[in-house]
Amino acid sequence: MFTRRKILGAGALGAATFALPRMAFAAEKADVVIIGAGLSGLHSAELLRDLGMRVLILEASDRVGGRVQTVQTVDGPIDVGASQIGRSYARVLDACQRYGLKLVSEDRDLLSFGGHIKDTWIDPKTWESNPLNRTVGDERKINPILMGQAVTAKFNPLKEVDDWLDPRFSGYDTSLRELMKRNGYSEAAIELAAFSAPGIGIDETSMLRMWQEETRGGVDRRTGQSPVQHARDHPFGEANDHNMIDGLASTNNIVGGCQQLPLAMAAKLGDAIRLGRKVARIEMTDSGATVTCADGSAVSARFVISAVPFSVLRRVEIVAGRDNPLQRQAISAMPYANTARMYLTAEKPFWKEDGLPPSFSTDGPIGMFWAIDNHTGEGRHRAMVVMVGLVAQAIAKMEHAEAEAFIQNEIVRLRPAAKGLLRLATYKDWMRDPNQLGCGFSLAPGQVNGFARTMTDPWQVMHFAGEHTRRLDFGMESAMESGERVAVEIGARA
Ligand SMILES: Cc1cc2nc3c(=O)[nH]c(=O)nc-3n(C[C@H](O)[C@H](O)[C@H](O)COP(=O)(O)OP(=O)(O)OC[C@H]3O[C@@H](n4cnc5c(N)ncnc54)[C@H](O)[C@@H]3O)c2cc1C
Repeated sequence: MFTRRKILGAGALGAATFALPRMAFAAEKADVVIIGAGLSGLHSAELLRDLGMRVLILEASDRVGGRVQTVQTVDGPIDVGASQIGRSYARVLDACQRYGLKLVSEDRDLLSFGGHIKDTWIDPKTWESNPLNRTVGDERKINPILMGQAVTAKFNPLKEVDDWLDPRFSGYDTSLRELMKRNGYSEAAIELAAFSAPGIGIDETSMLRMWQEETRGGVDRRTGQSPVQHARDHPFGEANDHNMIDGLASTNNIVGGCQQLPLAMAAKLGDAIRLGRKVARIEMTDSGATVTCADGSAVSARFVISAVPFSVLRRVEIVAGRDNPLQRQAISAMPYANTARMYLTAEKPFWKEDGLPPSFSTDGPIGMFWAIDNHTGEGRHRAMVVMVGLVAQAIAKMEHAEAEAFIQNEIVRLRPAAKGLLRLATYKDWMRDPNQLGCGFSLAPGQVNGFARTMTDPWQVMHFAGEHTRRLDFGMESAMESGERVAVEIGARA
């Protein structure tokens, strides 16, 4: 039997989307078949192969990496998925070191933020006395574009990174609106929080899900704590301190793009990876499984690892010898958030000239405009439109070209000085990626109590990896955490 120490030391759900071809190929054989070549699938493969198991990874797309994707543009490589690596990312940092990948302090500082609410420009510094501010008492002092984040941070009762799953906190498996009501916030404050709510929205996401991320973020902030502390003025992410401690800033990027990491992992795995193989069916018993792809090819194995988001697993037909209603519920009901981002090059930093805040957050259809500091003021100026939550869900309903034109027109409507000065570098909407159907998992109010605590338990010979099966970590680190967990689970059963 394999122990965790040894392993780490070694370094019918709805309708299936595809009609499978009648003539299936003879099934290839493996000890473990892994569905998905994102970081979680690749990392589990690395560990299981080190244990001497024959692993095969089936990947739907023509590239590895999943939500780690670097696009080559005329302005150089741009990470349209994960890019930021914190000081506490033990597994990701270890992998970068093993593969000889270089890290640099992220060069994407945001210029200061204002708000555009109800078609009016707001200066957060004078918001308290602004006649448009209908909040009451101490609420009046809260920056309106940070209301959702401020309330979320204020009431976080979690201390440890796994507290979110502890039944002691089950009473908090509720929405931000409900939390604000319980704590006597005014309707005006709730309305403001709705446009800046972390997660999908003020009604859609469990506070426990949000606090998991926030509590884990606290660990990152405290790791190699920097003497430089930035006051938070923007509604998304953390400011980079650029203070090098043990060769790391608080936010780091991989030189050449984040996709260098999954590419290096895949190169080591060699022919264990099959690209362009979209899994359509999993048939399993207690002793093995056959996984069939949309093209009719199949792999039989003793174990299966699902390393795909539930947003896509729910389109795979699962035929099980023993049913698992709770697992099926988790797979079919877990909501997915979206992120859509437009990466822009500005010929001139119009934000220096039009008297409006360089970056802004709006309650309108484009969410956030980030003006990126280029420090010297010379050369290329960059900007991004970042859409999250309900804004990102709405934009995903538009076709790619329509969305691009709509977003650029909306920037010019709000900032006429931008006219003719913005060039599109690239645009990515994760909900429209057919192999992702969203940017990251969410849990609706009630779903932590409903299924999150046990949804990662193996179902017959199927084990569950992926960032949505995290227990302690977040971001890329949570994908690696899950890859490690399933390798330990399978190692112990083999
Ligand atoms: C816009 C964005 C920004 C982010 N920024 C950061 C960041 O800065 N720092 C950070 O740490 N994290 C960040 N993340 C999160 C990070 O990218 C993810 O947590 C992590 O990459 C998820 O890895 P995974 O293996 O769980 O899943 P994925 O990367 O989604 O891998 C799943 C794989 O399964 C494949 N697949 C899907 N369906 C099938 C099928 N039917 N058959 C076969 N294969 C299939 C997919 O093509 C994909 O390759 C970001 C994510 C997004 C979207």
